[in-house]
Amino acid sequence: MERSANDKSSNRHLPLVSAEESETSSQRPGSMRPVDVSHRTFSEGEFWRKIPGFEAIDEATFLDHRWQVKNSITKVAGLKAVLGERLSDDVIEDIAEAFREVPMALRVSPYLLALMNWDDPKGDPIRRQFIPLASRSLPDHPKLSFDSLREQADAPLPGLTHRYPDKVLLLALDTCPVYCRFCTRSYAVGPDQDAVAKVSLKATTSRWEAALNYIARHPQVEDVVISGGDAWNLRADQIDTLGQRLLDIEHVRRFRFASKGLAILPQKILTDNAWFDNLARLNERARRQGVDMMLHTHFNHPVEATWITQQAMLRLHQAGIHVRNQTVLQRGVNDDAPTLTRLNRRLGYLNIHPYYVYVHDMVRGTETLRTSIKTACELEIATRGSTAGFNTPTFVVDAPGGGGKRCVHSFDHYDDQSGISVYRAPAVKANEAFLYFDPIDTLPKAFQKRWQHPEQRDAMVAAAKRRIRRL
Ligand SMILES: *Cc1c(COP(=O)(O)O)cnc(C)c1O
Ligand code: SF4
Repeated sequence: MERSANDKSSNRHLPLVSAEESETSSQRPGSMRPVDVSHRTFSEGEFWRKIPGFEAIDEATFLDHRWQVKNSITKVAGLKAVLGERLSDDVIEDIAEAFREVPMALRVSPYLLALMNWDDPKGDPIRRQFIPLASRSLPDHPKLSFDSLREQADAPLPGLTHRYPDKVLLLALDTCPVYCRFCTRSYAVGPDQDAVAKVSLKATTSRWEAALNYIARHPQVEDVVISGGDAWNLRADQIDTLGQRLLDIEHVRRFRFASKGLAILPQKILTDNAWFDNLARLNERARRQGVDMMLHTHFNHPVEATWITQQAMLRLHQAGIHVRNQTVLQRGVNDDAPTLTRLNRRLGYLNIHPYYVYVHDMVRGTETLRTSIKTACELEIATRGSTAGFNTPTFVVDAPGGGGKRCVHSFDHYDDQSGISVYRAPAVKANEAFLYFDPIDTLPKAFQKRWQHPEQRDAMVAAAKRRIRRL
């Protein structure tokens, strides 16, 4: 496999020795290597006060989830108002220009804003996930489509995707406390943008009733993912209703609330007592009934977890609420082994179980954030073994076209020159092959050129399809 200029994830140019040879080499066993415990260090104190607009904000205010929501920033001018001199005019213009093109709206919590390094906004991994820069944008991949996972094609009802035999995905609402520019569901989530009009998945009783009836009428459904949008934005009575209704359905054995909340607004767990109490009560009822309730969250970088997260996790843990994490692999954010290792160890330290690392979906306006399949494979190899096996995430690619999540190493065929990988998913869709495409700018120059020509493009895709082992 060739390495590309942007690929900084591996040590492949180091000479490798076989296990037998290494007995005589100077390698030391793990127990004797210096121990890196940086994952245990969390940002401390009133870290937000270094942001000009938050200088006067005391701890009680910053921990108030209502203050966080009310002061979240949704306009580029709002960034300037809070950051003042910390934000130069050229960066502001760069941001404003980017938002005219992308499918996702701006929304960042004061918590997130305070975690971004405004001395180096262009290089900052937190800024990169939420605030695009026009100067860094790349053209979308020609094979990209709007709802690339075909969630709507597998939906018997609006906002209810039934792709896998025993589980369904219920998109309960279409808003979030923050908006991630890389969101797979930018086809529905968040307000309409200049560049796109969206599918509406509002939190309405009639839509929920239809979805709950569907689940009740399908006894093969044991597992329900409640996502969106984000469960943090469900009212306390709404989260209660949804959970209680699922617990009334006898064949539902597992359900999860999906929320990025712990990574971007952990204050809610500490100060929204009505919401937390309802969640804790649901968890108690689920346990009494032998049902498994979980919270699934979404940390991408170690900086996102602070002492506030630590306190929130302690409260969840003490209430017996278990948390799993799903990370999205992103270029310039977490696509290097030390960052990913620190993230996984930190999550384990917080009693959050690292579940998946996703290869970035093919989403509009995010070509600069995607990595190659090669990078994902190398990072999986580099990080496995650095902590407990049960805290070692599975690296998956959610196969474009609705194949579902496939282990990243399990391709039938992968050509890292054309960037085309081919996966099968016999338990999901028996007779189909699913193709994922690496970002073009990471390919060797000659192959970048081939992608410019429609006939050569088609020829590369056809050649990859011929390599499918069996269908
Ligand atoms: C991810 C996903 C699920 C849940 O899958 P797990 O592998 O069990 O986490 C269910 N339905 C759809 C459509 C999904 O995309
Ligand atoms: S919080 Fe989740 S659903 Fe909402 S924008 Fe981010 S990735 Fe999408």
